[in-house]
Amino acid sequence: MSVPLVELRDVRVHFPVRGRSARRAGAVVKAVDGVSFALEEGRTLGVVGESGCGKSTLARTLLRLVPVTGGTVFWKGRDVRDFDARAMRELRRDVRMVFQDPLASLNPRMTVGELVREPLDLFAPELGESAKRDAVATMFERVGLRADLLERYPHEFSGGQCQRVNIARALIGRPKLLICDESVSALDVSIRSQILNLLIDLQAETGVACLFISHDLSVIRQVSERVLVLYLGKTMECRDADALFAAPSHPYTTALLRAAPVPDPRIERGRPRTTLGGDLPSPIDPPSGCVFRTRCPEADPRCTMAEPARKGVEGGEVVCHLR
Ligand code: SF4
Repeated sequence: MSVPLVELRDVRVHFPVRGRSARRAGAVVKAVDGVSFALEEGRTLGVVGESGCGKSTLARTLLRLVPVTGGTVFWKGRDVRDFDARAMRELRRDVRMVFQDPLASLNPRMTVGELVREPLDLFAPELGESAKRDAVATMFERVGLRADLLERYPHEFSGGQCQRVNIARALIGRPKLLICDESVSALDVSIRSQILNLLIDLQAETGVACLFISHDLSVIRQVSERVLVLYLGKTMECRDADALFAAPSHPYTTALLRAAPVPDPRIERGRPRTTLGGDLPSPIDPPSGCVFRTRCPEADPRCTMAEPARKGVEGGEVVCHLR
């Protein structure tokens, strides 16, 4: 069996709570609490959940941008804690991120040409000037921007164009993994679908794997082969996308699916859209038993008493007493 590109085993990221708001000494926020997944080369894993459920923190563990409290993060079978400076540099070259705010991700003092070229200067200094120039122009056109705009500055571009620049910057060094962290959330609907289609095309061309993070299950549905559903830092369901969307198993996944818009406007118009009731509980003081129980329409007394275990279902696993 081939070694996954990325594997997380029982990863935990707990932050100590500082300041007066901590209700008791030693309180911690369990931003990520026992999450496992594996991602193969060239594949896409969608990570979905409401804001504050630990999606971004989870992705940052790979680049050691947050301290891991427990569990192990593997890159090509190697524990990233063992990486020396050189291995970390290679990892930063091989794993690139595209963030939510397209303009804020770009240095306003650099032209977009300089911005797209910057990763080559950092990670491929051996390339000659003309090779870098050609690579930048080719990449710029590949993401749907005209090469004669390379001398302009980010503020001269729309949000969608800035996100194309960010994608060009991320992919020019031919990374192995692209982490898209709410990368289309700030864009309006028509631009969002253009950027999603661009990402799907570029992934097919380059073979880059993708960790696609979004609060919107309809966006995850368009890009993912496998889906990880998180709630308060814990896995609720992790399954092949086809099986999950055909028959969601966890009540939280069902609620997210009911709240997500359907791309077909005729279906969307006639469809009752239900939102998930209640607020996300405080991560400092999560509910006992199943963390989803305070908002779960199916909760019964067992759900207060004990944390549910993982169970195998078609295409993956679910964490719920009733399944
Ligand atoms: S374990 Fe209970 S509260 Fe949690 S999702 Fe299942 S039914 Fe709902």
